[in-house]
Amino acid sequence: MKCLLFGARGQVGWELQRSLAPLGELIALERASSDYCGDLTDLAGIASAVRAIKPDVVVNAAAYTAVDQAESDAGTAHTVNSLAPGVLAESARAIGALLVHYSTDYVFNGSGSQPWQELDATGPLNVYGQTKLEGEQRVAAANARHLIFRSSWVYSARGSNFIKTILQKATGRNGRQSVQHDCWQDQQQDTLAVVNDQFGAPTSAQLLADVTAHAIRQVLQQPSDAGLYHVAAGGETTWFDYANHATDQLKRAQPAIKIIVKNIQPIASAEPATFAALPSVPPAAQRPKNSRLSTAKLQQTFGLHLPHWQVGVNRLLADIHLD
Ligand code: NDP
Repeated sequence: MKCLLFGARGQVGWELQRSLAPLGELIALERASSDYCGDLTDLAGIASAVRAIKPDVVVNAAAYTAVDQAESDAGTAHTVNSLAPGVLAESARAIGALLVHYSTDYVFNGSGSQPWQELDATGPLNVYGQTKLEGEQRVAAANARHLIFRSSWVYSARGSNFIKTILQKATGRNGRQSVQHDCWQDQQQDTLAVVNDQFGAPTSAQLLADVTAHAIRQVLQQPSDAGLYHVAAGGETTWFDYANHATDQLKRAQPAIKIIVKNIQPIASAEPATFAALPSVPPAAQRPKNSRLSTAKLQQTFGLHLPHWQVGVNRLLADIHLD
């Protein structure tokens, strides 16, 4: 079996390089790959890479994931997140390959408190979510056999993500008052304000990659199991509770690391500027408050168990080296 992976250097792409390796030959492309085109803004280039390699499975882990930047760079986000997945799906269909693609809880509007099911009405609140939704639609419309995995709050030791930001701020590794959409730090660096009204489940790139490998094997045997699935770790939390868990657990797992933050304050999404000394920089993109995803369909179809989010987070905290 031959697998072609796009986005090999992202959080999920990196873990897919590990989890897909036992399935057979793996050709992993990144944006700057030279043998074959791995740049999703080059639509003809990625189509010709698929035609030339003729894989059994195309896995697309590349995406424009800079959620706030997408608001002012909608053209590139649209090409990468909407047009390119459609082109990959058409190319996969032409050679009879399975296409695996990733999407996000941001396709929903975040209302209510129930976990979203796969067939619930979508309603993205920002450009990133709109482009990801259109990508899903183009993949489905191309009529290729496909798996689309919608996930939430993805993290890994590699790449940039919320938990790494919290750990850097909490330990003073990144002492400047950088402003990020879900947490803010005061000038003395001893207080963090973290959003407490958005709910979801932090999901490790490792879990997503492992689930992908299992699902690919099953769908190759049983094509009727192809389709759209939600994949997220078990349980739920808020960014605020997640930040508290991360700092408490880091103290336990790595007592030698000094935590300089003394307080973590809960704040609402609508009030980013809690520290007078900091400029008020509200996030450019609105975020959904309810990012809970129901994973019943995935668990039933593939007979998989999705561990509680703290399991993956605790593993990361035991292993992580902070620079
Ligand atoms: P990352 O941001 O870690 O990785 C995205 C990768 O896409 C990067 O390696 C980046 O390359 C690559 N990329 C961006 N633009 C292009 C381009 N023009 N051509 C080729 N490659 C490009 O994202 P994740 O691994 O976290 O995300 C994987 C998938 O999961 C995506 O579909 C994302 O939408 C989805 N998802 C992510 C969530 C999250 O919280 N991160 C939540 C829910 C879903 P480079 O390294 O060169 O910049």
